[in-house]
Amino acid sequence: MTTIKTTCERCGDVELEPNDLALELDPTQESGVYLFTCPSCIVVQRRPANPRVVNVLLATGVSYEVITPSPIDDPITEAEIDAFASRLYSEEDLFRLLTP
Ligand SMILES: [Zn+2]
Repeated sequence: MTTIKTTCERCGDVELEPNDLALELDPTQESGVYLFTCPSCIVVQRRPANPRVVNVLLATGVSYEVITPSPIDDPITEAEIDAFASRLYSEEDLFRLLTP
């Protein structure tokens, strides 16, 4: 059985099995976050996973879920609204804005 070493904020180094971890992947990036429950203090931890970590975890058989970034995590900025609004005024064919 593969052992994955990571660290708990409270307990320090801990060893987990692939079943103890879950990956959340961001479809817009090659990175994501991984979650695990510390075997000592039973606290769920959430850590960023860069592409290398993602690859290692996937290779060890960690289950994963693709997460669609929520608007709360990535709010539309005022600049984006302004840009959209100015395009609305300059764009003659509004339907073009709705097609990718
Ligand atoms: Zn712990």
